[in-house]
Amino acid sequence: MYKYRQYGSRYVLSIDNHEELVAAVASFCRERGITVGTVSGIGAVNSATLRFLNPATKKYVDGVFEEQMEIASLVGNISMKGDEVYLHLHATFGRRDYTCVGGHLLCARINGACELVVEKFEGVAPGRVFDPETGLNIYSFD
Ligand code: FE
Repeated sequence: MYKYRQYGSRYVLSIDNHEELVAAVASFCRERGITVGTVSGIGAVNSATLRFLNPATKKYVDGVFEEQMEIASLVGNISMKGDEVYLHLHATFGRRDYTCVGGHLLCARINGACELVVEKFEGVAPGRVFDPETGLNIYSFD
């Protein structure tokens, strides 16, 4: 599903072609016991689902993009929600005409390569709690 090399608290991670990006990163975090940290990277996909939260309605609107796109930028953080690794990832995807789509990343199918750096932080992972005011799973440091 992926290959990696460790550099101190950081990992250089290459996710295999045709894998689903978010599931692969979650598997990697589980395997390495990473409960708090950051993710950044680049690559290419041929499918992505982005999620937009309308703050007025607190309803999610998902956008599905089925086309070849560059991962112009992937950024995010790692925390825990209960016993599960919780990834919060945002991505900007570059289209064939050099315009971009972007937002909160639900899933994406790699088509080409996906080169990430994952940084593991030491210490107690923050949790996530649902906040009814915003409709978001916000950080909990309790
Ligand atoms: Fe988000």
